[in-house]
Amino acid sequence: MKRLAVLGHPIAHSRSPAMHNAAFAELGLGSEWGYEAIDVPPEAFAEQVDEMIAEGFVGANVTIPHKRAALLLADDPSDAAREIGAANTLSFGPAGIRAENTDAPGLLAAIEDDPSGRRALVLGAGGAGRAAAWALNDRGAEVTIWNRTASRAAELAAELGCAALPEGAEPDPEECDLLVNSTSVGLHAGAQASSPQIATFKEFGFAADQIADRQVVVDLAYGSTETELVRAARSRGARTIDGLEILVRQGAASFEIWTGLEAPLATMRRAVQPQHQ
Ligand code: NAP
Repeated sequence: MKRLAVLGHPIAHSRSPAMHNAAFAELGLGSEWGYEAIDVPPEAFAEQVDEMIAEGFVGANVTIPHKRAALLLADDPSDAAREIGAANTLSFGPAGIRAENTDAPGLLAAIEDDPSGRRALVLGAGGAGRAAAWALNDRGAEVTIWNRTASRAAELAAELGCAALPEGAEPDPEECDLLVNSTSVGLHAGAQASSPQIATFKEFGFAADQIADRQVVVDLAYGSTETELVRAARSRGARTIDGLEILVRQGAASFEIWTGLEAPLATMRRAVQPQHQ
């Protein structure tokens, strides 16, 4: 059995095991490959990885709060993982630990269209924001970063050579073609004003009617219901990409790294739906 796992803290509600095991079953690999979830506190991360290598695991996904530690542990980090400063996919081989970041290509795959020359507004400068801004900047988008703590946006923008909104400035969706929420603000339905027409995203300082049908809106957050941002953007006629699609696309990229096979996207999408949990 080729064993894989997702390491996080907490991790009990992760949809990754269901998603990957469904993909293995779909390709007739259910008895050869297995994927589990392992809860690991930060102080035990390195030891856990050593144990997994000793037990014969072939790789792992890594999520909050271990993405930086995963990069630092690697013998062979990809250029993208190094530049982003975080890894979410580890492969264990004879040459040691290879670390890659599939959050960035996962986002680009979900967007599908070429972002080159398009104005992208990235909300958030944490781990997910770094991967999103790096990916879009790398593909030639004109990236502006907004973050609640403006200094973090400024630091990331300086690293990438893109723009950041200064302290006190509110992000304006009207100024962008592509809006990416990569903050941990969930904006789950019910948490905001119920009508998308009047919904105001207090955490970001803009209102739903600033979103237009020419835009693409990506929300990395997901839960058991659609987020308010996705709902509002959809009602405004924008193309929306939700956090589950992002989860599937980063998972598909990891799957392809480990197996060398094309990931069965439709099966993975079905497996992450809340009713399958
Ligand atoms: P992180 O490193 O902890 O960063 C959190 C970000 O959210 C920071 O930019 C933080 O701003 C901002 N934030 C937190 N509370 C806020 C508030 N009340 N108002 C405005 N901004 C706020 O976390 P992360 O790893 O980047 O993850 C961010 C989110 O993306 C999480 O919800 C995660 O589940 C999601 N995510 C989803 C996928 C997927 O596959 N769908 C993949 C990766 C991440 P400050 O700097 O000011 O604290």
